[in-house]
Amino acid sequence: MEFEEIVHRCFRCGYCKFTEDYHDFNCPPYLKFGLDTYAAGGRMWLINAWLNHGIETSKHYAEILYLCNTCGNCKEHCVFTFKEDLLNIFEAAKAELVEKGLVPPAVKDYLQGILVNGNPYKEPQHKRGRWAEGTDIQPFSGQEFLFYVGDVGSYDEPGKKMAGSVGTILPKAGLSIGILGSKEKCDGNDVKALGETGLFAKLAEENIRLFKEIGVKKIITLDPHAYNAFTKEYPKLGGKFKVWHYTQVLAMLIKGKKIPLPGYKVKVTYHDPCYLGRHNAIYNDPREVLRSIPGLILVEMNRNRKNSLCCGGGGGNFMTDVSGLGKDSSSRIRAREASETGAEFLAVACPICYKMLDEAVKEEGLEEKIKVKDIAEIVNQAILR
Ligand code: SF4
Ligand code: SF4
Repeated sequence: MEFEEIVHRCFRCGYCKFTEDYHDFNCPPYLKFGLDTYAAGGRMWLINAWLNHGIETSKHYAEILYLCNTCGNCKEHCVFTFKEDLLNIFEAAKAELVEKGLVPPAVKDYLQGILVNGNPYKEPQHKRGRWAEGTDIQPFSGQEFLFYVGDVGSYDEPGKKMAGSVGTILPKAGLSIGILGSKEKCDGNDVKALGETGLFAKLAEENIRLFKEIGVKKIITLDPHAYNAFTKEYPKLGGKFKVWHYTQVLAMLIKGKKIPLPGYKVKVTYHDPCYLGRHNAIYNDPREVLRSIPGLILVEMNRNRKNSLCCGGGGGNFMTDVSGLGKDSSSRIRAREASETGAEFLAVACPICYKMLDEAVKEEGLEEKIKVKDIAEIVNQAILR
């Protein structure tokens, strides 16, 4: 396995499972199970034992590896330089399981869905662009920007709602955007995180070929996971495009006075998506958008920015979640934290966070107190007031 020479360097000191101030545990599977085995340090020792034939490949070993949300808290807070490779090590260990066909059934199902149907929902391709029906958004045919929506934005209700909100604002602000509709394919970010590097390479190569064929130069993504794949992984495979997450574009448009914002008196807290925040250090743009709405009060949860708690959906877990939606799942803990701020809206900037936190708010019985809304939806509501 790649990184074999690094795995043994972990001291199992445990710093990786905390926030920066060591006040809170911040590794979702550790929060759920309360055992170091489920945090990054334990994971490193397990992988080391597996590499040295101290433990055999088992269902339990595979489950522990796949419970990681790839949230990046460990990479942020481990005190050693090898921290840069922590997630790569976990990915390589999962890749070994993929190669041996020993992944948990839910993961197998997720990957199979993408391989056969092009998406984990196992829905037909022609349904991809349905969220745009009734809008003025056209298929991509040389517009300045490709608006890439992704699997969750195409097939999941909260994601479709988000795609609709972003797809409404951007043209209104004068941006020329087009979508791929039925030609769109999974970006592969989570496929890679699940260790299926071969399938990821296939998806990335097909996407890059298509983007080049139809003349895509600039991309706006709905999903931070797609943003991560397009900016970090695609360039290594020859796919160099200018890429923005939609919150960055909204921040620029508002700054350039392209979106008029009347007052909206509402108290909002913002949840940093791991693939926008910790993985890509985009913390300010979403907050700038919210703060630019006159009358909106932005309150922070105790865990924010690089100490934010994952919604629990990263690394494919929004579909494959082996840990479930119990009271101690990170999505429900996050829903309670958001509600404790007294905010009326829990603002999100990722369709996976939207799905996970919306379900968690309902499970917690907090719907009367707090509503999950994506940033574009809040901006649209402000415009309409
Ligand atoms: S991964 Fe880093 S912070 Fe975590 S236990 Fe190992 S050495 Fe300590
Ligand atoms: S990436 Fe997140 S879930 Fe995975 S081990 Fe690190 S802190 Fe835990």
